[in-house]
Amino acid sequence: QETLLKVEDLKVSFHTYAGEVQAVRGVSFDVKAGEVLAIIGESGCGKSVTSRAIMSLVKTPQGEIKKGSKIIYEGKNVLEMSKKEQRAFRGGECSMIFQDALVSLNPTMKIGKQIVENIVQHRQISRKEARQEAVKLLEAVGIPNPDKRIDQYPFEFSGGMRQRAMIAIAIACDPKILIADEPTTALDVTIQAQIMELIKSLKEKLNTAVILITHDFGVVAGSANKVAVMYAGQVVESGSREEIFYNPQHPYTLALLGSVPKLEWKNKQLLQTIKGTPPDLISPPKGCAFAKRCNYCMNVCLEEMPEITDFEDDHHTRCWLHHEEVPASVKKMFQDD
Ligand code: SF4
Ligand code: MG
Repeated sequence: QETLLKVEDLKVSFHTYAGEVQAVRGVSFDVKAGEVLAIIGESGCGKSVTSRAIMSLVKTPQGEIKKGSKIIYEGKNVLEMSKKEQRAFRGGECSMIFQDALVSLNPTMKIGKQIVENIVQHRQISRKEARQEAVKLLEAVGIPNPDKRIDQYPFEFSGGMRQRAMIAIAIACDPKILIADEPTTALDVTIQAQIMELIKSLKEKLNTAVILITHDFGVVAGSANKVAVMYAGQVVESGSREEIFYNPQHPYTLALLGSVPKLEWKNKQLLQTIKGTPPDLISPPKGCAFAKRCNYCMNVCLEEMPEITDFEDDHHTRCWLHHEEVPASVKKMFQDD
């Protein structure tokens, strides 16, 4: 499969009264058709800002995507597209589902009409045809009696059904990329699993690339092909799901997975709590952002930011422990832990 979307050195800041918050600090990743990339991290790590940047939803003038950032789709930098092209990309090529369907659905508009609006905005078909499409879409996302449901309002749907309806809207224009930002957080566990199953089966049917934003390793375990772990605006570790789960190398990832027994990952909902707090991104530390909370912190970690190094072909980490000049004794200490 070819790479569909490539994010390169993305930097996003927010200008606040207190100063410039460097929310995303040089993030790179790519995703292929039919692949699920999970971006995982605590709240405030920059994962949602990253997804909003892809969708050109970072609000100016407070939000600023820094020069040199690239979001390449089909050879074009989305960030350099005209507003019109960006709108066509968003919704047409790339669409997003959010945590809370109640917030993103229009409460005063019938579900069917919301789907129809989205279809006619991006495709050259009549409203009548769009309505037929909408019924099919509701059926495809597992909503019973779609020809009746289509004329109901969001409040007449249960939480899980609303999430399904939002997914129907998101896939209405056959997007190549689907971004799901905490798509199941607001739902109970059984419904969560059903929604993740739905996203997976749609991905297989439509060969969509999925970017899954989550703080939940359980969600990642069941669905991701690749994982990027974010901390303080950076990707600190990335790799195949197997590598991240069974061979984690960054102390932050280790701490997150920490005391969660491997067999329980699928059921565990929340990340481990780690002592301390993430650094202030108005004046981020010059060294490793995780240093203050890291059990393995060395002098170099406080002085210089570690570069990303390749641990394996499909496994990269941003940590001095994996630097070639780190003494073997230190590495050994880490590996024995
Ligand atoms: Fe810990 Fe140093 Fe690695 Fe940062 S670079 S995670 S402080 S060992
Ligand atoms: Mg978020």
